[in-house]
Amino acid sequence: MKNHQISTHLIHHPYQAPQDFAAPQLPVHKASTVFFPDVATMRSRRWLDKSGYTYGLHGTPTSFTLEERLCTLEGGKQCLLVPSGLAAISTVSLALLNHGDEVLIPDNAYGPNKDFAEHELSRYGIRHTFFNPMDIEDLRRKLGPATKLVWLEAPGSVTMEFPDLVAQVQCVQSHGALAALDNTWGAGLAFLPFDLLRDGGSLGVDISAHALTKYPSGGGDVLMGSITTRDPALHMRLKLTHMRLGLGVGMNDVELVLRSLPSTALRYHAQDKTARQLAAALQRQSLVAQLLHPAFAGSPGHSHWQQLCATQDSPAGAAAGIFSVVLDAPQSQVDDFCNRLQLFRLGYSWGGHVSLVMPYGLDEMRNLGRGQVAAGCLVRLCIGLEDGADLEQDLAQAYTQAFAQDWR
Ligand SMILES: *Cc1c(COP(=O)(O)O)cnc(C)c1O
Repeated sequence: MKNHQISTHLIHHPYQAPQDFAAPQLPVHKASTVFFPDVATMRSRRWLDKSGYTYGLHGTPTSFTLEERLCTLEGGKQCLLVPSGLAAISTVSLALLNHGDEVLIPDNAYGPNKDFAEHELSRYGIRHTFFNPMDIEDLRRKLGPATKLVWLEAPGSVTMEFPDLVAQVQCVQSHGALAALDNTWGAGLAFLPFDLLRDGGSLGVDISAHALTKYPSGGGDVLMGSITTRDPALHMRLKLTHMRLGLGVGMNDVELVLRSLPSTALRYHAQDKTARQLAAALQRQSLVAQLLHPAFAGSPGHSHWQQLCATQDSPAGAAAGIFSVVLDAPQSQVDDFCNRLQLFRLGYSWGGHVSLVMPYGLDEMRNLGRGQVAAGCLVRLCIGLEDGADLEQDLAQAYTQAFAQDWR
């Protein structure tokens, strides 16, 4: 060893740091290669469970730890990490659907989920049908012999209608199909996706897909997703496809989520509180034709939200800090309103510390019409961690200037 060149010495260095380092934040274990002590150990190690380490793509202590904590957050038993929330959706669909199968997707689902079915799954001979999330009979009618997977979302993206999730899951599972929930909005905090019944009965989704990009990250600087299950056999089907697709996540990103995770619940409830304050203020304005926030009476599916997300201990219930309003004004004025906002920045995503605004054109997004959404121009607001009164002042100045109306 003594006669090696400096480059070799720097790589095969004898110093080993003492092992008893302990601090609030966990170490970041980054690796493609993982060392084995000997050939026999290498041959006996399995990558299919968390009993040992084989290769970075199959996990390191850092990703194993985040997976276990996410299981705790959502009430699941197994978890897979993927590079984005959308990758969580596409991996579930690819893993569980075969040529000739059909997937059902709510018409108000996260748009790229619908696009993935239309443009990718269709290439493999997998059919898709959109259903009305607010009409359980429409779902029941559309469940056919080829339906193997049904996506659910509570509430729907952008228009925020809250479905009867309990009835939907019962309907899907009694048909023999799998119920996969996009649980980004609930985030494991508004309701328990694997324990939907209050009376102690057992009913839960089969799969929870979560865009960790939103609340668990909380910083607007990480893209990641998770796929959580309770059934080991189902997890194994997902894990095999996940491995064969080569879906890994960077450990620096995993560390960022681990760093933010302890404050997820605090941020979620703080953003919920400010969002309701601002939604109530907007509801008073003359040009607001409809408020789309499931915690407000009159918002589509409010009673379903109440049943699932409000408890006797906490009658106010929990909701994510995101809502939409339909404005009875021309699109050009609504665009001007968005442009005039200063604290609310124009951008996609949500769950971070910066408040965001985005106008949406529903006509390009829905296949089954507007459903229970009023006519007008829709604007979605995602509430960050700024002071609520400052945010309301920002809404008021943009509203009065763009629409030449008083702020009440
Ligand atoms: C953002 C989002 C996703 C996708 O997450 P990415 O990490 O941006 O791919 C999926 N579903 C919902 C409901 C979302 O809001």
